[in-house]
Amino acid sequence: MAASMRLNNPELQRKLEEVENYTEDTIASIARYYDETEEFPHEPMEYFFQNDFFSLLTSNSEEDLTVFLETIRIVSSKFAALGSILLTQGFYAVVPLHQFGTDEQKAIYLPDLISGTSYGGFGLSEENDSGDPTYIHTLAVETPFGWVINGNKKYISNAPLASVLLVAARTKSLDGSDGTGIFIVETDRKGLTVTEPMEKTGITSLQVASVQLQQIEVAHDALLGNTLEGVDQVTFTMNLMKLSVAMQAVGIAQGAFAKGLEHMSVVRKFGNRLIDNQSTQEKMADMKTSIYSAEAFVRMVMTDTQNSIEVAMAKLLTANIALEVTESIIQLTGGYGFMKDSDIERYIRDANVTSIYGGSSRSQRRMITEPWVNS
Ligand SMILES: Cc1cc2nc3c(=O)[nH]c(=O)nc-3n(C[C@H](O)[C@H](O)[C@H](O)COP(=O)(O)OP(=O)(O)OC[C@H]3O[C@@H](n4cnc5c(N)ncnc54)[C@H](O)[C@@H]3O)c2cc1C
Repeated sequence: MAASMRLNNPELQRKLEEVENYTEDTIASIARYYDETEEFPHEPMEYFFQNDFFSLLTSNSEEDLTVFLETIRIVSSKFAALGSILLTQGFYAVVPLHQFGTDEQKAIYLPDLISGTSYGGFGLSEENDSGDPTYIHTLAVETPFGWVINGNKKYISNAPLASVLLVAARTKSLDGSDGTGIFIVETDRKGLTVTEPMEKTGITSLQVASVQLQQIEVAHDALLGNTLEGVDQVTFTMNLMKLSVAMQAVGIAQGAFAKGLEHMSVVRKFGNRLIDNQSTQEKMADMKTSIYSAEAFVRMVMTDTQNSIEVAMAKLLTANIALEVTESIIQLTGGYGFMKDSDIERYIRDANVTSIYGGSSRSQRRMITEPWVNS
């Protein structure tokens, strides 16, 4: 598969090579265990906390961001759920706090999120909203003492173990004006309920739950950045989230391809190999080309992370490729790919989420067509 990008900074290059080695030597061999048991992978997460990966997202350096996104791709090529946990902690907790938090908010929350002392999550999705910040029903009403929040958030990653959630809400200020804000809500607040982790068909060790907020009282300074620019904050956060899911999708496609090729290269009973079939070779050549070009496209979009339309195209394209490649690999490897022992079926289960979370493929298409429809 395509090698990681060459970076100018030798220290970052080494960090990336170490991730590749750790993924190959350790993560690859434990992925099935975590997939089957659905346990949260605390041990591999420790590697990323101890090696200070989340600080890469607080330096404002493009190259550091690239290393984090490449890490998501590399890890997801062997264990996609671990990629999901990394991208949730990174782009749904560390990034919005770093980007928009006041100095005080950053000082309170970031050190623990970066060191792994605490986990965070981001509550945007609700019933019937498809991740669109303009359709939020959760309401925060301002009082002389702070804000009172009521609402329900669904499918919130890391919620079962998070100590802090960033909750997107419509707001009604004391002066009667309406707005949108993101609130920093500690999960031990009275009135906050996190449901049991939901059972899922893929990325099983990512913990996902619904969050109910009933008359949650928070102080004025719980408003992220002390500003009601929630729609812009959500858009910024979601663009980076989508790019990370795009890198995850590339990683899943690369991992499935490598697993498939490995099996196709094994000499069979009568001396032939599956890869000796010309039609299989042609199919594999097409897939290799698609994955390679998708990876190159995402890397191009990574240089302008707030170009929402290009980001939407990157997410749409890579999710489609992850679905096509995993489906094709299972067909090309026959019964072997269908069996759990091969690990290949896990890739197809995991690939599905890339076209759903971070905004569905359908909503990416809507975003791409919006300028034509509204002009
Ligand atoms: C594993 C997992 C983790 C998640 N983690 C988080 C998280 O941490 N934080 C968070 O906020 N959210 C999270 N989500 C939610 C995720 O972002 C949403 O599931 C996603 O945005 C799709 O929304 P939905 O499930 O409500 O789909 P629905 O709104 O029920 O839509 C279902 C399908 O119909 C399509 N559709 C909807 N409306 C229309 C229409 N008018 N016309 C045509 N098609 C339409 C949608 O695009 C989609 O394909 C997570 C989801 C999953 C599965």
